[in-house]
Amino acid sequence: MDQIECVIIGAGVVGLSIARALALEGRDVLIIEKEDAFGLHTSSRNSEVIHAGIYYPKNSLKAQLCVKGKELLYEYCEVRSIPHKRIGKLIVATEDFEIEKVKQYIAKARDNGVDDLAWLSQSEVRELEPEVSSVGGVFSPSTGIIDSHNYMLNLLGDAENAGAVVVYQTSIALIKPKEDGFIVKTEGLNAHEIKAEIVVNAAGLHACDVAKTIADLDENLIPQPFYAKAHYYSLSGRNPFKHLVYPVARKASLGVHVTVDMGGAARFGPDLDWIDGIDYSFDNSREELFFDAIRRYWPSLNRDQLQPGYTGIRPKISGPYEPAADFLIQSQKDHRMKGLINLFGIESPGLTSSLALAEMVSQLIESNGQ
Ligand SMILES: Cc1cc2nc3c(=O)[nH]c(=O)nc-3n(C[C@H](O)[C@H](O)[C@H](O)COP(=O)(O)OP(=O)(O)OC[C@H]3O[C@@H](n4cnc5c(N)ncnc54)[C@H](O)[C@@H]3O)c2cc1C
Repeated sequence: MDQIECVIIGAGVVGLSIARALALEGRDVLIIEKEDAFGLHTSSRNSEVIHAGIYYPKNSLKAQLCVKGKELLYEYCEVRSIPHKRIGKLIVATEDFEIEKVKQYIAKARDNGVDDLAWLSQSEVRELEPEVSSVGGVFSPSTGIIDSHNYMLNLLGDAENAGAVVVYQTSIALIKPKEDGFIVKTEGLNAHEIKAEIVVNAAGLHACDVAKTIADLDENLIPQPFYAKAHYYSLSGRNPFKHLVYPVARKASLGVHVTVDMGGAARFGPDLDWIDGIDYSFDNSREELFFDAIRRYWPSLNRDQLQPGYTGIRPKISGPYEPAADFLIQSQKDHRMKGLINLFGIESPGLTSSLALAEMVSQLIESNGQ
């Protein structure tokens, strides 16, 4: 039977980041990915925003890992010349009753250690974004954008240069704990039985399914997965936006905002639609909803400027009527299995947090999950 020190399940941005960190520590790493390439799921179906860390509850993992991850990510992008931009983000109030809410973001961000947000008057917003209609807003200068594919390519390159190996078209059939590690049974192109000391479940939308293949894992520890679909529309024609523009969050989502990609193109999204399973099909009947939402802050939008873009699915572990759950990272102290790390609910800001998540997983392994 083949033997390896660490098995990482999933070659999304989080699995790759963890694989890189462990390989750079000199560990033997095998990444197991069920698709035929890395990053084909949530890691390539998101907004590609480097978040500042504004919205998350104080002391939550999301807040801590986002703020730390942002700094690590900017540094990594600089060193590796990964296309990225500190483009800045405007959160705008479109009506007077939203002003207080927008101002609260300044204090909320400060709670999380982000102290660079500033209130802008209506005319100051207009100076930054002449076509945006608002009664004022808040500017976050540390929010940015990144070419996430290029980022993942660099993570994989680092991991492979440090000796990590990735196998594609291979998924997990069974994980059986043994006294000194695990027997990992895979199926697909590389169907094998491998003995591993450390198993990291970074399977994103499938993390709960993968956890169910771990023999003897207390099923009460495996959260119920929920899937919240997001649509993005592209803006055809001239892009007037120089920054990211977000309206005030309404209901469970941040609202349909403007993001700009590294090529300078604008897109709108994500909306929020609870679904029962993984389905990336594009429902163009949402156009009306997008049109109305965008016109709140960009009245000159014409309907024919909206082109169907793509969809993504948030790997949630809290349902539509529950407060948003934090990232859930389980280690030995939770499940009593030495060497096992499960990552659940790694939705936004998982891309921004990826390097900090990898540091955390590495520390948990080093300290036997304490
Ligand atoms: C709509 C949307 C917008 C977002 N916007 C942002 C943003 O702007 N900024 C930000 O910081 N974050 C954002 N996020 C969050 C971010 O994209 C995710 O947190 C991140 O991509 C999660 O990466 P991951 O590696 O955990 O998951 P994934 O990218 O889904 O990777 C998991 C991998 O595991 C593989 N896998 C699954 N099951 C198995 C199995 N049984 N065996 C082997 N492999 C398996 C999958 O094929 C996949 O490649 C957004 C998310 C969504 C949905």
